[in-house]
Amino acid sequence: MSELQDLYQQMILDHYRSPRNCRQIDECSCSANGHNPLCGDRIAVYVDVVDGVIRDVSFEGSGCAISTASASLMTEAVKGKTVEQAHALFKVFHNLITGEARGDEDLGKLEIFAGVRQYPTRVKCATLAWHTLEAALKEDGSEVSTE
Ligand code: ZN
Repeated sequence: MSELQDLYQQMILDHYRSPRNCRQIDECSCSANGHNPLCGDRIAVYVDVVDGVIRDVSFEGSGCAISTASASLMTEAVKGKTVEQAHALFKVFHNLITGEARGDEDLGKLEIFAGVRQYPTRVKCATLAWHTLEAALKEDGSEVSTE
């Protein structure tokens, strides 16, 4: 188990040091800002939705390793998916990191955040990007806060 934990740690650090899709999309269809005051994480998520499919997704921001790695992995996970699939994925991911019962869905790389459930304050870091994505898809334009 500790070897797996080490691997997960390394993957989180890798995505923190070289985040994927960390840029602004100039012509995106929706975007939102998120803030986690507890940790100081700030993020902007840009999404380009065409015919109900997330054609492109990116983020910018500054935050801790968990929030940055989570945003990076989120963009990889939802790109090319439909908006409904992205909502469903967030539910499963949320269950994973809060330790709630879940089915046998394969979360792929997102499984590296399973250890976060032992640190309740970190759950907010890991879900910030996802809450911000949801806000962007709702197009309500307001800033999301985890508090
Ligand atoms: Zn954080």
